[in-house]
Amino acid sequence: MAQRPSEAAPLRAPLFCWTYSCLLCLLCWKPQECEGAAGHNQVNLLDSRTVMGDLGWIAYPKNGWEEISEVDENYTPIHTYQVCNVMEQNQNNWLQTNWISNEGARRIFIELKFTLRDCNSLPGGLGTCKETFNVYHFESNDEDGRNIRENQYIKIDTIAADESFTELDLGDRVMKLNTEVRDVGPLSKKGFYLAFQDVGACIALVSVRVYYKKCPSTFHNLAFFEDTITGADSSSLVEVQGTCVNNSIKDDTPKMYCSADGEWLVPIGKCMCKEGYEEQGNKCQVCQPGFFKASPYSLSCSKCPPYSYTYDKGSVFCHCMENYFRRDNDPPSMACTRPPSAPQNVISNINNTSVILDWSPPADGGGRKDVTYLVICKRCSVDLIQCEECGTGVRYIPQEAGLKNTTVMVVDLLAHTNYTFEIEAVNGVSELSSIPRQFVSVNVTTNQAAPSPITVVKKKMVTKNSISLTWQKPNRPNGIILEYEIKYFEKAQETSYTIIKSKETEITVDGLKPTTVYIFQIRARTAAGYGGYSRKFEFETSPVSLPASAQSQVPIIAVSVAVGMILLAVVSGLLLSGRRCGYSKAKQDPDEDKMHFHNGHIKLPGIRTYIDPHTYEDPSQAVHEFAKEIDASCITIERVIGAGEFGEVCSGRLKLPGKREFPVAIKTLKVGYTEKQRRDFLGEASIMGQFDHPNIIHLEGVVTKSKPVMIVTEYMENGSLDTFLKKNDGQFTVIQLVGMLRGIASGMRYLSDMGYVHRDLAARNILVNSNLVSKVSDFGLSRVLEDDPEAAYTTRGGKIPIRWTAPEAIAYRKFTSASDVWSYGIVMWEVMSYGERPYWEMTNQDVIKAVEEGYRLPTPMDCPAALYQLMLDCWQKDRNSRPKFEEIVSILDKMIRNPCSLKTLVNASTRVSNLLVEHNTGGFSVYQSVGEWLESLKMGRYTENFNESGYTSLDIVTKLTLEDLKRIGVGLAGHQKKIMNSIQELRVQFMNGMMSV
Ligand code: AMP
Repeated sequence: MAQRPSEAAPLRAPLFCWTYSCLLCLLCWKPQECEGAAGHNQVNLLDSRTVMGDLGWIAYPKNGWEEISEVDENYTPIHTYQVCNVMEQNQNNWLQTNWISNEGARRIFIELKFTLRDCNSLPGGLGTCKETFNVYHFESNDEDGRNIRENQYIKIDTIAADESFTELDLGDRVMKLNTEVRDVGPLSKKGFYLAFQDVGACIALVSVRVYYKKCPSTFHNLAFFEDTITGADSSSLVEVQGTCVNNSIKDDTPKMYCSADGEWLVPIGKCMCKEGYEEQGNKCQVCQPGFFKASPYSLSCSKCPPYSYTYDKGSVFCHCMENYFRRDNDPPSMACTRPPSAPQNVISNINNTSVILDWSPPADGGGRKDVTYLVICKRCSVDLIQCEECGTGVRYIPQEAGLKNTTVMVVDLLAHTNYTFEIEAVNGVSELSSIPRQFVSVNVTTNQAAPSPITVVKKKMVTKNSISLTWQKPNRPNGIILEYEIKYFEKAQETSYTIIKSKETEITVDGLKPTTVYIFQIRARTAAGYGGYSRKFEFETSPVSLPASAQSQVPIIAVSVAVGMILLAVVSGLLLSGRRCGYSKAKQDPDEDKMHFHNGHIKLPGIRTYIDPHTYEDPSQAVHEFAKEIDASCITIERVIGAGEFGEVCSGRLKLPGKREFPVAIKTLKVGYTEKQRRDFLGEASIMGQFDHPNIIHLEGVVTKSKPVMIVTEYMENGSLDTFLKKNDGQFTVIQLVGMLRGIASGMRYLSDMGYVHRDLAARNILVNSNLVSKVSDFGLSRVLEDDPEAAYTTRGGKIPIRWTAPEAIAYRKFTSASDVWSYGIVMWEVMSYGERPYWEMTNQDVIKAVEEGYRLPTPMDCPAALYQLMLDCWQKDRNSRPKFEEIVSILDKMIRNPCSLKTLVNASTRVSNLLVEHNTGGFSVYQSVGEWLESLKMGRYTENFNESGYTSLDIVTKLTLEDLKRIGVGLAGHQKKIMNSIQELRVQFMNGMMSV
């Protein structure tokens, strides 16, 4: 049984006093003021001080405990029991309370307040005087068992006083009141009696209070915990579950433990205000209009995020304003957003049939970070009026939709086709909006492109010596397929292959070995050239399986064939002269004498004037005048090296009688030619045959007497100059490059001296041999340049390679050696920039316009200033101011002799890459500022207006509209027009990436 420390409190002496015999003194006090009133966690079962009437306790024997009932000044009864039989022996005085219900408590506390007389202060009787008394209890379920035997009681404790009093104290009227508390438990019945046993002490039992302890109802973490009676013993904890307050839900079941002391311990779990409510005090209060709470886990109601609202109380989210949206997975705390505006500043870059599109992000992302882009490709009619979606044939790199970066490459477009690309910015809410999507569009026209590779090749029939193949047209022919080239070779013998041609999508290849695996690759050719080869297809010829009788006949058949062939040769006289270019080995003519017979070399020594073959009534006569006839048998064709307008170009060997065999190039006239085509084809030979110069391609002769008709020229190992330079980018010294240029200039000087105007001088028409000697070639008779893919129709109907051609030749067909000089300047630029395309991707129209406006190509990288100056001189608008080839040769010669003169490069600061330069006589300049640009337009007076309005750089100027122009103070219509026209040009340059900003 736990003992509480006893408390002693000094009290004022009673206001009224005892009789003389009175050894004790009763204390009076106002009960409500007294100590020991029930604490907040105590529930009284009995408090003798608050009982208004008779306490009803039983004392026995009769001379033992005596009740003294008084009232205090408020007439509140004071129930005091006293006993003081200290002088008599064997005292055993009992005072029994009435039945006290324990009200369900299993542990109760008894607080006793009493005074006790110090035995030492008593005169005599010391032998019997006691200073303690005993407290007992007896449990029962009802009041009936009042007759309890002494030995039925269970002792709670013997109570001693901490403070006893003497007569002195009485005199001082200072009473020493003792308070002792004892607890009892666990109780098992509904109630109990208490009994106080006096064995000879002098005691006044002033009050008896019986109570139990509870944990008082409380709120914790929005859960309500009811009053809870403490546990049965002093260390027990009673687990209690809380109930969530209104408008709250439990997160984890709220619990607390009620300790024996009536204190709440160890809170676990909690409740949270549900959506639309927030915690205030121990309650959940509703969110006010304009506020929301989306989750029980949020602590409080929040203001509606931007672009959203709510007019209701208790909102769990806010509605988006019109045209603003929220995705399912957008948090309710996020502002409502809207679809982005259109992307900006789209730029296209065309490369044959692919286009790279670049753009800037939209000005307004709609408030979201998840902006991606979608590209819609539309194929359009020439006038761009009718467009249809491109469909699945077009590929997008990296993809068509969901682009995170502001660039895409669109490939597999059709050649020479107008396309419109719409670029749309999309964000997470685009699909929720019914507002039409905003996009930026760009129109592009694709260039010429070679056909795509053939993908399907099938074997039709196989014999021991032949394989018949059939194939499907390329998926993207990109033009009309002129023919197919079939390359084949024995497996693992790739170095020795054979090429044949077919106009159909099938062929039978014969002359094959039996039981041999052959590899086939096929490619298609259009006017744009060859496409890529198909992958390698493997087919095997059948084995030889002749019956024995058939084998014995082979020699006979062979003999008959041989005889037949000889007869045929005698009759036609044309035996073996018509080997097709495609055969890897031409049979040699056995009769070399015949060769001599045809060896009519027509060379007119000392000829200085070119004779136009057109002046011949019969152009074939011209051929025979200027070109020698070669017997086809002298020619061995080895492989195809290129494609010409009239047929393929092959490399091979020429063995003229009495001479050493040497390599040649052989241009062939395709089968099925018209008479005009034959004339034009041979026309080139008629022209070439008139020239004899180390820098002009040398004609060996022609084959006109057998088929195919051929033109045989010296072989130029390194092929055409433009491809050669591209392949060897940056590989040559300046002197080597100047050497090549010198050669071309020298060849051109010869031609101009001969009175021949080339009209199509370009790096692609210069051939380079193994010694890096460059020679002018391509002397088409029809100078309408049908065969040059660069040639474009001008407004006057002619076909002209715009980028290489002088303005006067474009404008009014004034082709002269001076216009060849202009072209030579472009060739110089091509050479110094290693085959870069002049004017890059600018359209022909823009090139014409830019050149007409005075713009010129900028200096190539690392270009000696002297060479660039020479280029600029070649590009003088006035053709008479251009240098003559004679002068060009001498200038280049000087440079070669004095390489130091090539050391000075064009100043890096003035060399602005990708920028067309404005050509001034004797130099060039770029627009360094808006002021400079306006000056060039003679509009310098507006410089201040531009600057003050923030148009301080040319790139900003490109965005200027007519309205802006009026606003900044350019009032005169003529000035507006002039400036707007120039801005349009700036834009073109800017869009083509040609203007540095
Ligand atoms: P052309 O029809 O003259 O433009 O020739 C077509 C292509 O055949 C050229 O681009 C060259 O690659 C190649 N070619 C023409 N003639 C020769 C040659 N004499 N030596 C080497 N390759 C040549």
